Amino acid sequence: METKQFKAESKRLLEMMIHSIYTHKEIFLRELISNASDAIDKLYFKSLTDDSVGLNKDDFAIWIETDKDARTLKIKDNGIGMTEEELETNLGTIANSGSFKFKSENKLEEDNQIIGQFGVGFYSAFMVAKKVTVVSRAFGSDKAYRWESEGVDGYSISEDEKMSAGTEITLELLDDTDDENYSEFLDDYRIRSLVKKYSDYIRFPVKMNVTHSRPAPQSDEDKEAGKAPEYEEYMEVETLNSMVPLWKKNKTELTEEDYKHFYTEKFFDYTAPLKWSHIKNEGMPSYNALLYIPAKAPFDFYTKEYEKGLQLYSNGVLIMDKCGDLLPDYFSFVKGLVDSEDLSLNISREMLQHDRQLKAIAKSLEKTISGELKKMLKNEREKYEEFWKAFGLQLKFGVYSDFGMNKDKLQDLLMFTSSNEHKLVTLDEYVTAMREDQKYIYYASGESAERIEQLPQTELVRDSGYEILYLTDNVDEFAVKTLMKYKDKEFKSVSADDLGLETPEKKEEIKAKEEESADMLKALADALDGKVSKVILSQRLKSHPVCLTTEGEISLEMEKVINAMPTDQKISAQRVLELNPDHELFGKLEAVNKAGDTEKLGKYAKLLYAQALLIEGMPIENPVEFSNLICELM
Ligand code: ADP
Repeated sequence: METKQFKAESKRLLEMMIHSIYTHKEIFLRELISNASDAIDKLYFKSLTDDSVGLNKDDFAIWIETDKDARTLKIKDNGIGMTEEELETNLGTIANSGSFKFKSENKLEEDNQIIGQFGVGFYSAFMVAKKVTVVSRAFGSDKAYRWESEGVDGYSISEDEKMSAGTEITLELLDDTDDENYSEFLDDYRIRSLVKKYSDYIRFPVKMNVTHSRPAPQSDEDKEAGKAPEYEEYMEVETLNSMVPLWKKNKTELTEEDYKHFYTEKFFDYTAPLKWSHIKNEGMPSYNALLYIPAKAPFDFYTKEYEKGLQLYSNGVLIMDKCGDLLPDYFSFVKGLVDSEDLSLNISREMLQHDRQLKAIAKSLEKTISGELKKMLKNEREKYEEFWKAFGLQLKFGVYSDFGMNKDKLQDLLMFTSSNEHKLVTLDEYVTAMREDQKYIYYASGESAERIEQLPQTELVRDSGYEILYLTDNVDEFAVKTLMKYKDKEFKSVSADDLGLETPEKKEEIKAKEEESADMLKALADALDGKVSKVILSQRLKSHPVCLTTEGEISLEMEKVINAMPTDQKISAQRVLELNPDHELFGKLEAVNKAGDTEKLGKYAKLLYAQALLIEGMPIENPVEFSNLICELM
């Protein structure tokens, strides 16, 4: 018989399984049972609309058989089965290689991580078996095939016989060693406890012939003589799993471990979830749901590839793996499932979108999620901050997108870094801590809190003792602009022209000075040749000589963000160069102006502008000219 080679990637995974020092090799059983259950699911689903399947719900089962003499363990199912091609493609290559990336070398220490993190599936059988045989007959076919492999050397496929559709997997267990006891997988009690532990919620019965012993019948004489009875062994079919899906069980029956374990297994996330919520809604619509908030954003979360959605079941039968309509985009991080009896089973995707029940469920779930997050924020601050670090960005996008339609729902969930010790604060906390005379919620944008702190524009607000929100994500300023106000307090950029902090006297004084220097300011602006819309005297600068601010709706940060997007729509903020009239440099400018040296004044203008750009963290347009100017004027 021809021996075929595994695909390179599969071979590496197999090698890792075979040499694994993974401490929970027992999970292989869970993986095989789960595959069997998936296969039955498929055939069961078919049976609802196709009479030729000829099986009722109660006929479906997974069987486990052990043979101590042959050292074999069998897992059988009467599911959909596999054709010859399917045996080839499904078992010759790893199905989920996409989610499975090897690091450069597959060191043994990585085993735990990798094996634990992904449902490694079928190949995990090679952690405990020296030989694996799969005999399968696909539903609708009259032929059966046998797939055999002793590991990395390859596999072979040949024709075989099987009475009906389904799959039978036989593991020839490895020999026991000093460190590993594989014989335990031949032990009924061990198997039973493993099924309970890992596969209890599997919806089809996992059955096994279990050997029990009982007192043998005694003769009357022996009875009278008070002889102890002999014991005899007998076999009994036992269903090892309780079959009730976890989400249909009573909350009181379930432990924290149950919820966490279910999550890891179902959503392939090795990190324990931050929070979960088990919902039993008796009203209209009636549904059970299990929602999880992950602790970390999946690696593709902030990309187009990420697909939101909850698993959707109709009375225990999976109808869709990722039903996106159940979650708004801003809660796309939520994982979980919904099971409702009110949904029709053979509902199509298109119909689902218009389903009133589904919409009602989505609405009710949204309320729950929002409520849970608010509760977490109130009662478990540290946890919430962890959540915020992982998914806060998504909520801020939520405020900004759809023309701000959802801002009211989300605003109380937002956090920003505060100028106070760089702590995260909510808008409510900010407003509550506002001083009586404070009119605005101040914010400043920049790359990082450290960079923002150094911006000359923040000086006046900070020196006045007001807290500033530091906006460091691209979307922040857009979100804040969408909000406009929070609890009647307007948001105000520290770069805005009227911060509400200047005294009337100071304003007057500057205005007078500005009139006095009008010619010079105009000459400076002219020298900058349209790069700034005007040059003014600053109300906000204290120690710095210049800064760059903007007029109108678009700030420098927004300009940066929008222009970095891969579209043709470029925008530019209306820039204003602000000069500090109290700075020594201003006196120098006045002197140059008085001397009538227009050329020199123009050079100063360029230098000051370049300086302001640098402070903002923006590139200067002509570094060579800048450098030459410095040399010249020094
Ligand atoms: P996964 O289950 O994550 O897809 P596996 O390596 O466990 O990966 O299985 C690969 C594929 O082999 C499955 O997707 C399924 O199509 C098929 N398969 C495995 N076991 C069975 C089975 N008992 N019956 C039918 N198909 C199966």
